[in-house]
Amino acid sequence: MTIAKATGNSHLSTPRFQPRLLIHGGAGTLFKGRLSPEREVLARTGLQQALEQAKSALEHSALEAVSIAVSVLEDCPAFNAGRGAVYTHEGTQEMDAAIMLGSTQAAGAIAGVKGIKNPIQAARQVLEHSPHVFLVGSGAETFARERGCVFAEPAYFHSDYRWQQLLSIRNSQSTALDHNLGTVGAVALDAHGVLAAATSTGGMTNKRYGRVGDSPLIGCGTYASPWGAISATGHGEYFIRSAFAATIANRLRYSKTPLHIICEEALEDIAQLGGGGGVIALDAQGNFAMPFNTGRMYRGTVTLSSSPEIDIYA
Ligand code: ASP
Repeated sequence: MTIAKATGNSHLSTPRFQPRLLIHGGAGTLFKGRLSPEREVLARTGLQQALEQAKSALEHSALEAVSIAVSVLEDCPAFNAGRGAVYTHEGTQEMDAAIMLGSTQAAGAIAGVKGIKNPIQAARQVLEHSPHVFLVGSGAETFARERGCVFAEPAYFHSDYRWQQLLSIRNSQSTALDHNLGTVGAVALDAHGVLAAATSTGGMTNKRYGRVGDSPLIGCGTYASPWGAISATGHGEYFIRSAFAATIANRLRYSKTPLHIICEEALEDIAQLGGGGGVIALDAQGNFAMPFNTGRMYRGTVTLSSSPEIDIYA
């Protein structure tokens, strides 16, 4: 499988690292054509707003930058997270999210939750206000309510677009990644040199039996350490089986291999297992990579001193 590469090595051109934010809006594997113009405009607008609104937080907090960016993307119906979450086999929307701070490796995650307007905010509450790391289902919803997270009615999350996607595959035995991409994620390096990562998703259309993907699993779809911050997207089962995000962070710590090579090799491992997807990653020097082995991945980046850059296709 060919891997589209997007890399940067800011430490080679500047003596000091650049505070930076990277975001993705998913790398769905099924749909090979181009997006409709309307869907593309909706997605590009969401990416632009996420980068613009989160950019200034790079001054003081990577954790704040990734939570703002992911919250904006969750509010945009173009993406499979929060408001635009895909439907389960039963016609419900069950969301997963995780957030992690690199400097302390503090983490918070939730899975299988319904009705939480911004699942990433609930995950952040777990990180900051719970002795636990990972809460699921009704327990996670109760905790989120106690912590003051905003809930919304099913109508807020509903879209005919997602419903039609469910109907088109419900009678098959398969699950499907959103035909038009969708899981969202962010990684950031702030002005203090602290890294953070966050990922949020509705998972896979037609998922069953409380299925949870890689996104909320610390070390699989989301990970941050003092050496790297990683958010993945793609067919979650494969990312879980390869312990994807922690493998990248640990290779950054223990080897001298450049970040973009590590990410490309990690995606090769996914392809060897039979899966597809993409990743955004930053290291402590501000080097970054955004490779994917699907036809496209919504993605963007911004630094404190630059304007947002957005891309979709390889
Ligand atoms: N990784 C997500 C999951 O398997 C889906 C995606 O990234 O599109 O739940």
